[in-house]
Amino acid sequence: SKELSIKNRKITDSVTLAITAKAKKMKAEGIDVVSFGAGEPDFNTPKHIRDAAIAAIEKGSNGYTASSGMPELRQAICDKLREDNHLDYKPENIVVSNGAKHSLHNVLLALCNPGDEVIVPVPYWVSYPELVKLADAVPVYVETPEENGFKYDKASLEKAITEKTKAIILNSPNNPTGTVYTEAELKSIADIAVKYGIYVISDEIYEKLTYDGHHVSIASFSEEIKNLTIVVNGMSKAYAMTGWRIGYTASNKEIANIMTNIQSHATSNPNTVAQYASIEALKGDQEPIHQMVKAFVERRNYMVEKINAIEGLSCRKPEGAFYVMVNISKIMGRTLGGKVINSSMDFAEYLLDNAKVAVVPGSGFGTDNYVRLSYATSLENIKEGLSRIEEALK
Ligand code: PLP
Repeated sequence: SKELSIKNRKITDSVTLAITAKAKKMKAEGIDVVSFGAGEPDFNTPKHIRDAAIAAIEKGSNGYTASSGMPELRQAICDKLREDNHLDYKPENIVVSNGAKHSLHNVLLALCNPGDEVIVPVPYWVSYPELVKLADAVPVYVETPEENGFKYDKASLEKAITEKTKAIILNSPNNPTGTVYTEAELKSIADIAVKYGIYVISDEIYEKLTYDGHHVSIASFSEEIKNLTIVVNGMSKAYAMTGWRIGYTASNKEIANIMTNIQSHATSNPNTVAQYASIEALKGDQEPIHQMVKAFVERRNYMVEKINAIEGLSCRKPEGAFYVMVNISKIMGRTLGGKVINSSMDFAEYLLDNAKVAVVPGSGFGTDNYVRLSYATSLENIKEGLSRIEEALK
């Protein structure tokens, strides 16, 4: 038989899935596992949004829409960008897709030629390197160390730039670190992008989950940087709508047109009913976000304080999203449960087997001295899980 796609053999399965799969299996066997693996809010989609979807179905709004999304939704997104981010876009600049992940895929396909380089922060969200490779481009990793608040610094960013650099991926608030860049830090990245004429892919999906400081969109500083930036955002995290699969981009018209063309052939419009729900999400009552944020802040504060009180573990206090990166460098080389801990995977396996707690090993994010804990789970679970970890390290 003929050979299969070589490019796609380079796309790796997520390492983090191994632990999640094992935790699920243990749960199915009746073992009481506390999971810190969640990548989605543990809240239901607010009722007024669900109702809008049901009403759309009943009204018979069940057909295709424009490939880039309904004009009414794209207008609602423009209104949101103006109000929240001081960004002036028209519906023709907006492409609505099947989740922010799909938006990122479209962006990279629209920007990259074979061999182009795309700068990816380490630690990274698991999908960035693979999405870059899918677009025939090459991920160039730039460390964003804990000492620097898990952020790019100017010198290492400039050092990584070559004539092949096409884009920088920026993610604030950040997954997996929870870091939020300050306005000054974003300005210095914008200066670099403008100086070298490099695109900025600004993944702002956790925007609404910012607890300290405030979210600023890098595109808002000048016309020059706005023209180079592709803002990526969506409904998943802000409105607890991960399953509805609606994300969007705001970009210059040329890029928006290419993405619309790609999407018109690959998927057509994103789910019509979910688009109606998204209009309601953006235009309707925003109070559910505040309720969710309140719960996340309380959980974050508890988790950070507790982790820093456990001997051998430490973490920085994240300003946003719902993740804490726990530094385990003091655990490395220790013998736990008769085994030497030599990697984040060893530690995650130890915790799962001995404490019945699931965490995500840092190796999945390109950094082995950490494990990621999500606080998108109840305070009760967080208390129980952390006290089990404390016990397991005694
Ligand atoms: N970007 C980041 C940093 C994420 O963590 C996620 C989801 O986990 C996404 C994008 C994708 O979100 P969605 O495709 O659900 O809109």
